[in-house]
Amino acid sequence: MPAPNPSSNGAERHRAAELRQLLQRAAHAYYVLDAPVMEDPVYDRLYRELLELESSFPELIRPDSPTRRVGGEPAEGFTSVEHRIGLLSLDNAFSLEELEAWYARLLKVLDRTPEPGAPLPPLAMVGELKIDGNALALSYQHGVLVRAATRGDSERGEEITANVRTIQSVPLRLQINNPPAWTEVRGEALIPDATFAAINAERAARQEALFANPRNACAGTLRQLDPKVVAARRLDFFAYTLHLPDGWQPGEGDPARPTSQWASLQWLQAAGFRVNPNAELLPSLAAVEGFFVQWEEQRKSLDYATDGVVVKLDDLRLQADAGFTQKAPRWAIALKYPAEEAPSKLLRLVAQVGRTGVITPVAEFEPVPLAGTSVSRATLHNADRLAELDLHAGDTIVVRKAGEIIPEVVRVLAELRPPGAAPLQLPSSCPECGSALVREEGEAATRCVNSSCPAILRGALRHWVSKGAMDVDGLGAKLVEQLVDRGLVRSIADLYRLDAALLASLERMGETSATNLVAALETSKQQPWHRQLYGLGIHHVGAVNAKALARAFPSAETLGMAAAEQPEVITAVFGIGGEIAESLRQWFATAANGALLAELQALGIPLAAAEGEQGVEGEGGGPGGAGHLSGQTFVLTGTLPSLSRSQAQALIEAAGGKVSGSVSKKTSYVVAGAEAGSKLAKAEGLGVPVLDEAGLRALMAIGP
Ligand code: NAD
Repeated sequence: MPAPNPSSNGAERHRAAELRQLLQRAAHAYYVLDAPVMEDPVYDRLYRELLELESSFPELIRPDSPTRRVGGEPAEGFTSVEHRIGLLSLDNAFSLEELEAWYARLLKVLDRTPEPGAPLPPLAMVGELKIDGNALALSYQHGVLVRAATRGDSERGEEITANVRTIQSVPLRLQINNPPAWTEVRGEALIPDATFAAINAERAARQEALFANPRNACAGTLRQLDPKVVAARRLDFFAYTLHLPDGWQPGEGDPARPTSQWASLQWLQAAGFRVNPNAELLPSLAAVEGFFVQWEEQRKSLDYATDGVVVKLDDLRLQADAGFTQKAPRWAIALKYPAEEAPSKLLRLVAQVGRTGVITPVAEFEPVPLAGTSVSRATLHNADRLAELDLHAGDTIVVRKAGEIIPEVVRVLAELRPPGAAPLQLPSSCPECGSALVREEGEAATRCVNSSCPAILRGALRHWVSKGAMDVDGLGAKLVEQLVDRGLVRSIADLYRLDAALLASLERMGETSATNLVAALETSKQQPWHRQLYGLGIHHVGAVNAKALARAFPSAETLGMAAAEQPEVITAVFGIGGEIAESLRQWFATAANGALLAELQALGIPLAAAEGEQGVEGEGGGPGGAGHLSGQTFVLTGTLPSLSRSQAQALIEAAGGKVSGSVSKKTSYVVAGAEAGSKLAKAEGLGVPVLDEAGLRALMAIGP
């Protein structure tokens, strides 16, 4: 015996009322005003929540609930007309499991449920694209289009015949020799993406509100009072449903009376309609799943929006047997593609401390499936964004994750805010070390500036051992955390003091992994100078900048000297600007960093280019000394401001360098002046550092 339904409590009643109100408002904005106030997937999920509440507690159902009705009321300014045959909505499935559950229900109503363990009986189905447009009801009398209406509330829609007559793909007369006394055709009007973009561009130019998506633009267009405007917007139409009067028989050359959805599509095509060419007759549920998966990718190449596929039982007699629920046919389902946006309940706001001490506010919320994965944390970027969102405790937030992009909080549904909820702010002290957080004037970032903050240290260690830096295998996030938490490592230099016995005693470490890690650390000492520089994690010195700097400055010492005394020498390096020079100056001026460099060097990390490495000092050459450019090849291009080409060449050669006529990977520097040509482009393509005259002079002064 099924368990009796528990009755709802106050919280559930309150939530249902809240959702009803919000969804009603959203539906009005969407269907009547063509200006949605929330994203479709957000609407869908809140709708689903209300549906689930109502199915668990039927006493919460109200006749005016958005789950009980289709669409919205007809808009003012149009005649409301009654449909000969109602236009229902479609039930949705959001996963293949939900599709399978729908199929099981369908078998049940058709009395075809198999014995337990027996395979599911296959039913032929038609897979169609779910076009994100607007349903139209077209009425023909004796083959002539007499009326076109919107879906409206499913029973009554708005009469828009004059507008629909402008759509080229809607035949004004059916190409049928014995046209039925009446014919009802349903299909989707749509606006192609390119036209949508053009309409919005025009609206922007006229400073009018933009349409949120092609579907809203199409709805707005269909409701234009001036058919000329509709004609100019070039709507399109795909027909997908056919109703014929009982007893109609085809005339000579006419297609037979259809007995299946597939044959209906062919009939419509023969009668002169555009039918979407991507529909397929599918013999089984497995084929339906294949169709859905195939179009998940392929739909991106269409020039109109689709948000899923519609699956329809093919046999019209079986469709009649399956019948309808209050809102939708039981014999069809819309299988939607994974949403990239969804609402969720905020659980807490946390401050995450990054490697450079930057604080990122992060929202933690009830897990939601997004773009195929379950998501429960999303970034709020920075304090400004946090303030803009105006987050309160217990808020319902809209989270977005598109493809590979990191999840983010898009906005807050303030309508669903619990009464008396407190606003949320970032803490004023670092959650890791407790020191006061700092936000410089004019900066978006809030930072922890305590260089021994464990979060910063963990970040620094992970960065030092990362692939692009010292590439040390076997030192994952968990191990770094243990080393820092136990106070075994207080700086990156400490990593080189770890011994295998100590490491082996840590959680999830064995003797072999400990020995391997010590060996990997030892090997890492031979990484080239630019990786060491990158590994130091100096603000703005990413892998590419580190390479350019390491080529121009062969050691931490020369770089530090230039940073302190000659920033113009640093900015003379191609691609390096004032911001980087300033960041380097600050870094080298910090005493703790000087101590770190000394420690690293004492432990065998050279912090300089090895013999033979790009940027090495030539034998007998010191900074600024004769011969210090030996081994370096230069290519000159363009006109330098003061040096002639032969003067520049003489200077380079005097310092031991060579001048060559063509750029290759082996070229050390290209010196470029005004109107530099293909050599400069080639240098940039190969990543060869490019100097201007000032850069060349600087190199002469203090060496490469
Ligand atoms: P629906 O769009 O999910 O499905 C039914 C409709 O699909 C049909 O009426 C028809 O127009 C269309 N369709 C497209 N291709 C079809 C095909 N091949 N065969 C049959 N029908 C096809 O349901 P709905 O009742 O029109 O509206 C619900 C949708 O509207 C949801 O996606 C919801 O997110 C959106 N909505 C959004 C808001 C908002 O605030 N953003 C408010 C209300 C509704």
